[in-house]
Amino acid sequence: MEQNDVLVIGAGPAGLFCAIHAAAEGCRVLVLEKNPAPGAKLLLAGSGQCNLTHDGEIREFVTRYGDHAKFIRPALMSFTNRALAGFFGDRGLAIITEENGKMFPQTRQSADILEILLAECRSRGVTIRCSEPVTGISRAAGSFTVMTETAAYNAGIVVITTGGASYPQCGTTGDGYRLASSLGQPVTEIAPALTPLLIRPFPFAALMGLSFERMQFSVWREGKKVADHTGDVLFTHLGLSGPGILDASRGIRPGDVVRLSFVGAMRREEFAADIAKRSAENPNWQVGTILAKYPIPERLNRKLLNLSDIPDDLKCAHFSAGLRSVLVTNCTGFPLTVAALGDYKIAMATRGGVALDSVDAKTMESKLVPGLFFAGEVLDIDGDTGGYNLQAAFSTGYLAAQGIRRQRETTDTRDLHIP
Ligand SMILES: Cc1cc2nc3c(=O)[nH]c(=O)nc-3n(C[C@H](O)[C@H](O)[C@H](O)COP(=O)(O)OP(=O)(O)OC[C@H]3O[C@@H](n4cnc5c(N)ncnc54)[C@H](O)[C@@H]3O)c2cc1C
Repeated sequence: MEQNDVLVIGAGPAGLFCAIHAAAEGCRVLVLEKNPAPGAKLLLAGSGQCNLTHDGEIREFVTRYGDHAKFIRPALMSFTNRALAGFFGDRGLAIITEENGKMFPQTRQSADILEILLAECRSRGVTIRCSEPVTGISRAAGSFTVMTETAAYNAGIVVITTGGASYPQCGTTGDGYRLASSLGQPVTEIAPALTPLLIRPFPFAALMGLSFERMQFSVWREGKKVADHTGDVLFTHLGLSGPGILDASRGIRPGDVVRLSFVGAMRREEFAADIAKRSAENPNWQVGTILAKYPIPERLNRKLLNLSDIPDDLKCAHFSAGLRSVLVTNCTGFPLTVAALGDYKIAMATRGGVALDSVDAKTMESKLVPGLFFAGEVLDIDGDTGGYNLQAAFSTGYLAAQGIRRQRETTDTRDLHIP
């Protein structure tokens, strides 16, 4: 049976980065990849342009991973966003920062990021075997046996970097959860994350493509507000998408009501008083003319009137308090009930995964199975859009390699004392 020091399962950014840095520590590393080629999802990242990471200090960064800031902090500290940009910069690929903080390779090509990772693997002697899906794993006498459809491999250390369960067309079909569970590693419930909201019926379907920068919206559950958000929102033919919605989707469940404000930061009372004043001052104007004074796109303006049962030609003189109240509600908190969240086929990440309390945040090693490491999306970590997920994959991959070095040092030292 082929013997390796470190066997990495999955050649995404987490697996490749771990392999590179474990090889740099002198390990003989084998990476097994299910697909015919490595990095399928990385190539799709940022619509092929690769939003590699995000600008900002790590203390701000960690807030972008939901409740998991504490776990991810050591990994982000060990290999920061600046270190990541420096890694590619040192190899001739400059990383640029957009005004909104998103960081991309200057060439805007995910393929350039992947090429550098593969070149590093080659130069450090990492073996990558593609079209080798891992089907099973077992551990006996301090080493692992990893089974594929055609072979069995032996390694003292195994790193599971199989990604999540979203975009299964990329090879990410949740295999890592099953492999981890088979070794006794707890896995939390998983669900699609960074995913659009399906609204049925969606009253703005005809306005698909319309987008709103920094829209304010809130999420309501059983009549109570559970969250306020500000972010970019996009109307699709089925409901809501855009970075603001994708990020918020982590905390949204079917049946929740999302209330959209089309009048920016104006609060309901402020907008109600303003529209009442303008209507009183201009009795001969049509209500739509008043609405056009606010930053509401023309097509939406007409739709809002229509959804508020206000005739297009209604004059302000006949704009009753009842109708005004309906329009104010629709402009400051249009209610849309979430029928479903987008499934794994369209979600950009997976919520849940290998339970964090059973993994050492300082080494990425299992607390239960010595020699078993994890990195990337297979862990119960999902970040916001904007480069946070790739950064998590790279940082945890790097930290796992450091954990492997330490684990081997400890083992070597222990060996020295064996009589
Ligand atoms: C369309 C899209 C766009 C995205 N854009 C961005 C972006 O711009 N910025 C950002 O930060 N994040 C982005 N993400 C998220 C980001 O790509 C992932 O979080 C990241 O790739 C996770 O890295 P990973 O190495 O953990 O897993 P992955 O990249 O998913 O890699 C896992 C690898 O494991 C392999 N594998 C799975 N099972 C097995 C098995 N049984 N045996 C062998 N190999 C196996 C898979 O084939 C895959 O190659 C995007 C996601 C999607 C879907």
